[in-house]
Amino acid sequence: MPDHASAVAVIGGGIAGLTLALALRREGVECTVFERSPRPAEVGAGLQLAPNATRLLHRLGVAEALRAIAVLPRALRIRGWDDDRPLATTALGAACLRGYNAPYYTVHRAQLHRVLREALGAGPLRTGHRLTALTENPDGVHLAFASGARHRADVVIGADGVHSVVRARLAGDAPVFSGSSVYRGLVPADRLPWAAGDPEIRVWPGPGRHLVCYPVSAGREVSFTATVPAGAAGEESWTAEGDSAELTAAYRGWNPTVTRLIAAADTVRRWPLHDRESLPGWVTPRVALLGDAAHPMLPFLAQGANQAIEDAVTLAVCLGRTAEADAPTALRRYQELRLPRTRLIQRGAREATRFLHHRGSPGPGRLHRTGAAADPHGLAGLRAMEWLYGHDAEAVAAGAIGEPSTAQAAS
Ligand SMILES: Cc1cc2nc3c(=O)[nH]c(=O)nc-3n(C[C@H](O)[C@H](O)[C@H](O)COP(=O)(O)OP(=O)(O)OC[C@H]3O[C@@H](n4cnc5c(N)ncnc54)[C@H](O)[C@@H]3O)c2cc1C
Repeated sequence: MPDHASAVAVIGGGIAGLTLALALRREGVECTVFERSPRPAEVGAGLQLAPNATRLLHRLGVAEALRAIAVLPRALRIRGWDDDRPLATTALGAACLRGYNAPYYTVHRAQLHRVLREALGAGPLRTGHRLTALTENPDGVHLAFASGARHRADVVIGADGVHSVVRARLAGDAPVFSGSSVYRGLVPADRLPWAAGDPEIRVWPGPGRHLVCYPVSAGREVSFTATVPAGAAGEESWTAEGDSAELTAAYRGWNPTVTRLIAAADTVRRWPLHDRESLPGWVTPRVALLGDAAHPMLPFLAQGANQAIEDAVTLAVCLGRTAEADAPTALRRYQELRLPRTRLIQRGAREATRFLHHRGSPGPGRLHRTGAAADPHGLAGLRAMEWLYGHDAEAVAAGAIGEPSTAQAAS
């Protein structure tokens, strides 16, 4: 017999699960979030949050809390791996606010997590609940947890990440190691003289590897991710220690901004990158996948969390505004709205590897001739992102359901 029952049970209290819980509450739908970790995650490094996600988060009531932890970078600049020369620019900052009516932020992942948790409150969140089994019946979905607890829900959402237990019930696939690992580091900004200037996202594509860095924690720290080829996946955890000497060796010969940045980190964490093929579908009549559980993507378009947030708001609108007894229709609508877009972005993230790692791509030399000269302020670069940053998942979902969207008024 289940200990408890709820309308919607969300498995996983990451960015996807917490955003979904906030969005469901706004729709008046009761939910419980089950998170396996006994304590909320205080780990991770930087995340880029683009306007396609920040406009949705703002409407969920966290604009002020987000502003307090975020940095508003002025631009994203691609630079030469050997000489640090600027090669191409995408304007962000004020230009992005003007163009898309929402900010492009860089944040610390753990701080974003805390903002979402505090907005939600402790009520709906059950920590220390690791899902081990799930059975879908006509009367509901029965959940079993490692602790022995049981639960019944009308609808279950798997927001349990790239190694999703819920996905394992829906599809027979497994995550595939991509052949790359990322080292992630955080450096106090006062150790890096250049960090005192205008905030920027810096990307150095290079032979077989690349490095990205930007300020986080309201400018107090600089986060970097250094992607390197790796023979084996190794441990996957936001807290797994990396070998600083290995990282230093992997970037030997790169420009001094990069090598000094790496040297300034006290510790680094290593994270093997996994990918999965996109699924033909990710819902059943009572179960759906969300975020990385549905569509894990390489982080090379910096969109995994952004897409998880788009998913969450779309799903909440579908569940909240479709007739009560018709969860299967709501879940099907959610899938129809989200699958094509996330598939495109998953593919785009994979293709970005060729440019970032100079494999069969034009490479930065050509970029310099075409990009930097033709678009010195990066405004064309920003306009080219319309398809990604201009998307309003909430308005699209409301439109699909045939409801007038309140999204613009609430922006
Ligand atoms: C190096 C790197 C850099 C990145 N940079 C960016 C970026 O700049 N911008 C961006 O948008 N995205 C970025 N991403 C991607 C982003 O981190 C993910 O897409 C995002 O965190 C996915 O959120 P999620 O909630 O779906 O999954 P997760 O964050 O993985 O959360 C899943 C949650 O489910 C819990 N869980 C797992 N199994 C169970 C279970 N059996 N029972 C209960 N709970 C369970 C986990 O403990 C976890 O809390 C990056 C990723 C990496 C690796």
